[in-house]
Amino acid sequence: MARIGFIGLGVMGREMALNLAKAGHAVVGHDVVPGVAEGLAAQGITPAHDLAAAAEGAEFVILMLPDTPQVEEVLTAPGGLLGRLRPEQLVIDMSTISPVATRKMAEALAARGVAMLDAPVSGGVTGARDAKLSIMVGGEEAAFARARPVLEAMGSKVVHVGAIGNGQTVKLCNQLVCAINIQAMCEAIALARASGLDPAVAREVLMGGSANSWMLENLGPKVLEKDAGAGFRIDLKLKDLRLANDLAFQQGVPLPGTALVTSLYLEARAHGEGSNGNQALFRVYDRMTAQ
Ligand code: NAD
Repeated sequence: MARIGFIGLGVMGREMALNLAKAGHAVVGHDVVPGVAEGLAAQGITPAHDLAAAAEGAEFVILMLPDTPQVEEVLTAPGGLLGRLRPEQLVIDMSTISPVATRKMAEALAARGVAMLDAPVSGGVTGARDAKLSIMVGGEEAAFARARPVLEAMGSKVVHVGAIGNGQTVKLCNQLVCAINIQAMCEAIALARASGLDPAVAREVLMGGSANSWMLENLGPKVLEKDAGAGFRIDLKLKDLRLANDLAFQQGVPLPGTALVTSLYLEARAHGEGSNGNQALFRVYDRMTAQ
C-alpha cells in the first residue's frame, strides 16, 4: 500500500481520498480551507497543515483542485511543490484544467526528474463516493502502470488515452456532451410541461427508449423537484466550457452546440446560479417559458 498526499478535499476530493484510505493506502490530506482536512481525520485521513507536509514522503501526490490557477499555485508557482518534489514521486492531477497548462507544468516537473499524469474524472459526486469514476489518463505508459492500482481504488473505468494533456482533452469532450445533454433534458421537460403533460411521466417515457441519458437518470429528479443544489456547480461547468471553446478555437474546430449551451450557462450565472448545480439550467427554461 502506498503513502499518498491528497491536495484539494472539496466535493469530489474528499470522497476520492476516503476511498483511497478505505483501500488501505496511507492518505495525508490538505485543503487550503482550514479545518477541512482535520474534519476527515476520524475517517482515516491524516491532516496536513500545508502543501509541503502533504507531499513529504508521498509516493503519489494527487491534486483535485478547481481550475488551472490553483493547480499552478500548488505545483509551479513560487511556494509550490516544484522545488520539493523528488524523482521517485509521481504527481497525478485529477482536476479538470487546461491541457496546454498541463503540458507546461509536466515539462517543468520533468526538468526535475518528476513524472506527472493528468487524470481528470467523470461520474459526479455519486461516482466519487461509490469509487465508480471514469478516469481518463494522459502521460507516460510507465507512470500510468505505476498509478493504475491507486486510480482503480477511485474509479471503475481507468483508461490511458495517450500523452500528457490528452486526459484533459478527452475530459473537455466529455463535458460538452454533458452540457448539451443537460440542455436537451431541460428543453424536453419545458416543452412537455408547457403542453400540459406531467413532466415526471414525460421523463419516465424518455428514459425507456433511445432518449435516455445519465442526465435524465441522475439530474432528472432534481429538475422535477426544482432542486437547484450542487453537485457540480454551474461555475465549474462554465470553466470547462471555456476550456473546450479555447481548445476548439486553437484547433480551428467549430462547435456550434457548445457555443449555444455556453450562452445558456452564462445566462444562468448572470441570474446568480453560479454556485448551484448544473441542473439549474432548468431555471433558464423556466424564465424563457414564464414559469
Ligand atoms: P470543490 O471546489 O468542491 O473542491 C476543490 C477544493 O480545492 C476546495 O475544497 C478548495 O478549498 C481546495 N483548494 C483550492 N485551492 C487550493 C489550494 N491552493 N491548495 C489546497 N486546496 C485548495 O470542487 P470539486 O467539485 O471537488 O471539483 C474539483 C475538480 O474536479 C474541478 O476541476 C472540477 O471541474 C472537477 N470535477 C468535478 C465534478 C463534480 O461533480 N463536482 C465531477 C467531475 C470533475
